[in-house]
Amino acid sequence: YNLNVTSCGIIKSSFPDISELDRRVTIDKYIWQNVDNWKNHIAIDCAVTGQKYTYSQLRVLCENFAESLLKQGFRPGDILSVMLPNMPDYAVIVLGAIEAGLVVSPMNPIYTSYELAYQLEDNDAVVIVTLVDYVAKLNAAKKLIESKKKKLYKLRTIVVNYDSYTERPSDTLDFTEMIVESAKPLKKIQHTSVIIENTVFLPYSSGTTGLPKGVQLTHRNIISNLLQMDYPGLRHLIPATKNFQDVIPGILPFYHCYGLILILIRGLSMGCRIVTLPKFEINAFLSVLKNYRTTVLYAVPPIITILGRHPTIKKDHFSSLRFIVSGAGPITSSDGERISKFINDKVRLLQGYGLTETGPLITLSPENENNFSSIGVPICNTWIKIVKEDGRVASIGEHGEIWVKGPQFLTILLLKEITTEKIKEQAISCWRLKDDLKHFIAHVFLDQKKNEIIEFSYILNNVMKGYYKKPEMTKEVIDDGKYLHTGDLGYCDKNGKFYIVDRIKELIKVQGFQVAPAELEAILRSHPDVEEAAVVGISDEKTGEKPLAFILKNNFSNVTERELLDFVAHRVAPFKKLSGIVFTNSIPKSQSGKILRRKLKENFSSQNK
Ligand code: AMP
Repeated sequence: YNLNVTSCGIIKSSFPDISELDRRVTIDKYIWQNVDNWKNHIAIDCAVTGQKYTYSQLRVLCENFAESLLKQGFRPGDILSVMLPNMPDYAVIVLGAIEAGLVVSPMNPIYTSYELAYQLEDNDAVVIVTLVDYVAKLNAAKKLIESKKKKLYKLRTIVVNYDSYTERPSDTLDFTEMIVESAKPLKKIQHTSVIIENTVFLPYSSGTTGLPKGVQLTHRNIISNLLQMDYPGLRHLIPATKNFQDVIPGILPFYHCYGLILILIRGLSMGCRIVTLPKFEINAFLSVLKNYRTTVLYAVPPIITILGRHPTIKKDHFSSLRFIVSGAGPITSSDGERISKFINDKVRLLQGYGLTETGPLITLSPENENNFSSIGVPICNTWIKIVKEDGRVASIGEHGEIWVKGPQFLTILLLKEITTEKIKEQAISCWRLKDDLKHFIAHVFLDQKKNEIIEFSYILNNVMKGYYKKPEMTKEVIDDGKYLHTGDLGYCDKNGKFYIVDRIKELIKVQGFQVAPAELEAILRSHPDVEEAAVVGISDEKTGEKPLAFILKNNFSNVTERELLDFVAHRVAPFKKLSGIVFTNSIPKSQSGKILRRKLKENFSSQNK
């Protein structure tokens, strides 16, 4: 791998650009295009219940579910939320909904009714798929929305019966009935209205600042990202054959972009067997590693930590593995060293880096690496700029914020700016579908003197379309030059490898999952005894980070730490709970009123040394 840096400091992927995005396929078609090659293999099975679907069964169930959704009156473009643990039916729901043209907005099933109310009110879902056990908290969330909006809130519910003996409420739809083949099929699902620039996933991320926002990812974003890593030396997974199938544990939640795209969507597109666990439990997970002969493990740093330290772990848990890929958060070299003791020399330890907003992957360790020290190199068609605090582009080795883009944005700008009709025509004629110019993905180099196009190619795009209904927030992260500002501090070394050194955005990551300080601060501020609140992430050996709150109390308040901790805990999922409260006399703020979190963090760590 070579460093590929331009004279203005842009570091480009040194893998060749992939220029075959002429395929114009939607995700469902992309997944099913080769299914005949592996139709009798198991596609997805649950390690706890044993429920399983082969590829040909899955194909039929997805089609049935898509038909049923349309028969129930849902229309392409409608938003469907999924609030489920990982399980085989997750694949049916996601792919069926996509086939019917719906947008899938995944949600964490352990969310409280307050968190559900926030996301459902924001994402405009018309239907949610969930377990019977969660219907009560869903109803509580609906009530919260109704009392806020002061009007009836309509959301239809599809209930999946999984591991539960509770009866399904009568006003819900039965998932089991919806996947049975209909006697009178609608045939054929109208795909014409589904274009690859349409949003297909709407996961939530707080981005660099503020509350969680819906990230609009299009078919093209996702397919691009799949193709960007499907290059020799980057791809880990091998497409299934008659006698071979990669086995990947489905342990990372499918409501997060990492699990959803890299395990569920990519795994199914390559004919892999995905073995799901509804929640992470070490013994069940070890049994998946060993008994199902796992070949590629996608993990987050806390899982790597456990694997390196757990007393029952032996070498034979890892004997069938080829790759262990860690992502979603920083990993320590000691964790890598510990796990190295158990693996044979055929296993490679790799890291990936990305964001929900980039759908998700940006960099990946080349396959011949064998340590977790770097986050790897830009995947195909990726451009990265490291920008210093003073706004200048960093030199090799210097630290700065990571900015990323696919060069497609450049093209759109260029085409707008091309004034000479001759060149414009030349550019347009390179693309067969003229009408599609606005969606057009290409890379144009002009020779202004000769009025000629020197180079023109299709380019991929894996950066989100924008935050749902929040154009101002989108502008804050995607600049005029169309670079996405990641909020991560990093650098590139002379061999073209990237490293993350810090996170400069507000976001806190607990076990690889997002905790938005703004969300916890809003809850704390709603407490009558709290004048002002600021939440920061502090390092934690087990979870990576944990949230800590600084509180300025109202005059004469006697509120205790315990009361405030409980107040927050009641409203958020367990991983977002505050680890402690520091009562303070002032919260440092910038002139524009922004909380100076870095200062709070530094003060706290210097006092606790
Ligand atoms: P999410 O949108 O939840 O995937 O979170 C994205 C953020 O996770 C990034 O902006 C980083 O701060 C962090 N992250 C992802 N991958 C890594 C990694 N390999 N090393 C360090 N931080 C990471």
